[in-house]
Amino acid sequence: MNKTVLITGATAGIGKATAELLAQHKFNLIICGRRKDRLVSMQKALETFANVHIGSFDIRDKEAVSKFVASLPIPFSKIDVLINNAGNAHGLDEIHEGSTDDWEAMIDINVKGLLYMSRAVSPQMVERKSGHIINIGSIAGKEPYMKGNVYCGSKHAVDAINHGMRMDLFKYGVKVSQICPGLVNTEFSDVRFKGDHSKSEAVYQGMTPLKAEDIAEIIHFVITRPKHVNISDTIVLPLDQAASTMVHRQ
Ligand code: NAP
Repeated sequence: MNKTVLITGATAGIGKATAELLAQHKFNLIICGRRKDRLVSMQKALETFANVHIGSFDIRDKEAVSKFVASLPIPFSKIDVLINNAGNAHGLDEIHEGSTDDWEAMIDINVKGLLYMSRAVSPQMVERKSGHIINIGSIAGKEPYMKGNVYCGSKHAVDAINHGMRMDLFKYGVKVSQICPGLVNTEFSDVRFKGDHSKSEAVYQGMTPLKAEDIAEIIHFVITRPKHVNISDTIVLPLDQAASTMVHRQ
């Protein structure tokens, strides 16, 4: 039987590219995000290849997350793979000038949202003694960078949660893996700079960033390893980036 994969943050960037790739490989897909119009058109496009169920909710809403998972229709209710991908950076400011609204968004989405979804999905994996949770971390969760204070903090939290989750779940046969990208050209910088394209374009100027599809291919590789193999963590950088703050530009 085809495996069922739930992807959070599937309306754009890495999550969308992953949904598109996994649909081609015939996984059953549950795609989530707030923008319902995008989910509906993705469902239409991907149903040529795979079975697709959509979930439009804000991952900060604990009740909405647990209600959605508890009420999945039978063909989608057994989740084999959870991809905790929803997340963003909001703002880029020195700590004394940061917006507390931005800080709350990052902690509530990147950390608490990931926890709510994991709490809702992991019990069925433990009960079945199989499953795989993929957490999308970041190079920012390995090394902080200037003005990235709270985003880096949220991704360091993902790094620790990923490690801790694996310690809790491995004895139940549940794999836990983290993928930590460097610069990927998605809507990420547009969100960070609140739609200011001149600022978001500057992030990738003079260098070749990763594409969302590059990360999707790695996710596909990680979830298709044999049962005894768990790729616990990976850092994936563009060639033009050697560390979170070291980018070679032409
Ligand atoms: P993106 O293109 O902006 O996509 C972000 C996704 O997260 C969207 O589908 C968005 O959907 C969803 N999302 C955001 N807030 C949400 C909320 N409150 N509730 C539900 N869904 C929400 O960014 P991306 O680059 O693909 O980012 C995906 C992941 O990769 C994030 O965890 C990010 O931190 C990580 N990452 C990105 C980079 C990079 O350079 N791009 C590098 C390292 C790590 P809706 O807006 O429709 O809700």
